[in-house]
Amino acid sequence: MRLHNRGVARSARPSQRLEIGTDVAAVLRPEEETRLHDVRDIDRVRCRVCGRWIEPGSSDPTSVSVTIEGDLVAAEFSHAECSPSLADLASLAVLADAEPLGIEYAQALHPEAGAVLIWERKLDLRLRGVEGREACLYLDTDWWDGFHPARDDGPVRLLAGWLLGSDGDDLVLRHDEREVERFHNGVPRSPDGWLESLRESGFCLLIVGSGIGLDRPAAAGIQEAIRDHRALLGLSETDV
Ligand SMILES: [Zn+2]
Repeated sequence: MRLHNRGVARSARPSQRLEIGTDVAAVLRPEEETRLHDVRDIDRVRCRVCGRWIEPGSSDPTSVSVTIEGDLVAAEFSHAECSPSLADLASLAVLADAEPLGIEYAQALHPEAGAVLIWERKLDLRLRGVEGREACLYLDTDWWDGFHPARDDGPVRLLAGWLLGSDGDDLVLRHDEREVERFHNGVPRSPDGWLESLRESGFCLLIVGSGIGLDRPAAAGIQEAIRDHRALLGLSETDV
């Protein structure tokens, strides 16, 4: 699922070649927008309108559009002259329950793993048209530093530099002191025994996924996402 080498992206000059309209920007998190600029700089992408490739070294003005495809939301590149940067913000807001940047989450107690926190972006945003792959835009393994796809052998890895804490009624996930995700009302919403398990062990199993369907009853969906590598796992220290 790794898309590019972030180190290369950092050393590249900032791109002025990618147009992101205000409606598209309204459904992108800052790190997702940064990543789209990186992809334009580093990868070969296909124009969704004319189908021709746009080379990373080319100066062709390029735009990003976001379209709804059933349960999915596709982010695609095009030549700026083939299409401006477009998104149907009203429909996207309906799809995301009025929170285009929001997450859905669930808390569970597993007999062996203990406290589990699983979440996903409400909008299942997929990056299309990049040579050789489709990627879940939210599941950037550079961003989720230390998280990993499920492995057949070996335990879930302990995350370095990540801490799940609380802030009033909210649970807050931080990486190197920076707030990465906030789980509104996660403290009062937690099931019986969840906080106790967290405090006793000092750890929480974190699962961040894409296209799981956490707004619906989800056991099969969670397992499928883990098998399909549409989920990343890690064991976080907690301070709740
Ligand atoms: Zn084109």
